[in-house]
Amino acid sequence: MEYDFIIIGGGIAGLSVGGRLATSGSVCVLEAEDVIGYHASGRSAAMFLENYGNNIVVELNKASAQYHKTGGYLSDRGLMSLARQQDKEAFYNELDGLGLDQISVDEALQLLPIINKKKVKYTSFLKEAPELDTDKILQDFAKNIRQNQGVIKTEAKAKKIERNAKLWQVITDVGAFEAKVLINAAGPWVDNIAAMAEVTPLNFTPMRRSIARVPAPNSDTGNFPMAHGAGDRWYAKPDAGAWLISPCEEEPMPPHDAYADDMVLAEGIDRYNEMVDHKITRMQTNWAGLRTFAPDRALVIGFDKSVENFFWFAGQGGYGFQTAPAASQLASELILNKSVSFSTNLLKGLSPNRFC
Ligand SMILES: Cc1cc2nc3c(=O)[nH]c(=O)nc-3n(C[C@H](O)[C@H](O)[C@H](O)COP(=O)(O)OP(=O)(O)OC[C@H]3O[C@@H](n4cnc5c(N)ncnc54)[C@H](O)[C@@H]3O)c2cc1C
Repeated sequence: MEYDFIIIGGGIAGLSVGGRLATSGSVCVLEAEDVIGYHASGRSAAMFLENYGNNIVVELNKASAQYHKTGGYLSDRGLMSLARQQDKEAFYNELDGLGLDQISVDEALQLLPIINKKKVKYTSFLKEAPELDTDKILQDFAKNIRQNQGVIKTEAKAKKIERNAKLWQVITDVGAFEAKVLINAAGPWVDNIAAMAEVTPLNFTPMRRSIARVPAPNSDTGNFPMAHGAGDRWYAKPDAGAWLISPCEEEPMPPHDAYADDMVLAEGIDRYNEMVDHKITRMQTNWAGLRTFAPDRALVIGFDKSVENFFWFAGQGGYGFQTAPAASQLASELILNKSVSFSTNLLKGLSPNRFC
């Protein structure tokens, strides 16, 4: 079957760029799993932190804000940072970086009544830190593909990739698919896809991040902000009547179906417990996902310079949802050879050729 665009990967990366391209040509998304959003895209913390990431990522975040707002994907949450005496330096670095305002511990207690005053010495707060409806974002992009006669093939793992004079051919167990342009949006597997297509890999690193779901500290936590232990020691947030805690680990590992490490979770919960009054008696569930980073931790968006019509849409790291609107818009403009609505600096900072 021949299409204009084959996209490998049915996470937020692949679906968002597919959603953008579907009105301009025929789109085929190939996803190895039996559902879309099975890997990192189904396991995120669903926050939109506009100043989170390096300068290139922040530019994408800011350019995505309007889409999230007008699409109705945002709801109030807020972000609070908590620090012990020994976390002072990390606390002030993050205060500037994330744009938090310092508040007194007593003021913080009004918003998050579980703070342990004996341990927590510095607190800050950012009201403009909304939560994202990640499922709706994903499904809306998928809907856009299907409404424009695009297809999303699940259980369609790309096993072999070949290229003749004009077309890419991707072989899966459910058939062979051809297209002029091949878009690599396979999350942690992007370097494997590149190697399969005889394109030089770019050295992405998938890094595990785990989350535990535990009973909430009390029955009235729905309006509590996300709390963050300065220095990325842990974060915690409400989740539909329960409570999520992440140890904030960044553990490099090969691409796979990630699962949480019990010891890493226990140590993270311990660091959290020291700073709050919240007795955790049991864990309801836990999970982990791979956040995949390029060497400089910015996304990679653009055509490979050595192999024709091979497009990288990769390295979404810990920002795949918040950056999706602008990143997918830029990707589609580049793929369709349209004039680009973003700065030259941004294009350079995202180009796959910056590593050569
Ligand atoms: C714990 C955690 C918290 C996070 N919190 C946030 C947050 O608050 N805000 C935010 O914006 N982001 C957050 N993220 C990051 C975000 O989830 C990721 O950046 C994003 O989901 C990456 O999307 P992706 O489509 O690139 O990768 P994935 O979702 O991993 O999708 C890649 C897909 O490619 C498919 N694939 C791979 N190889 C093949 C093949 N050979 N053939 C066919 N298909 C293939 C895989 O099956 C997979 O479904 C978080 C991530 C984690 C793990």
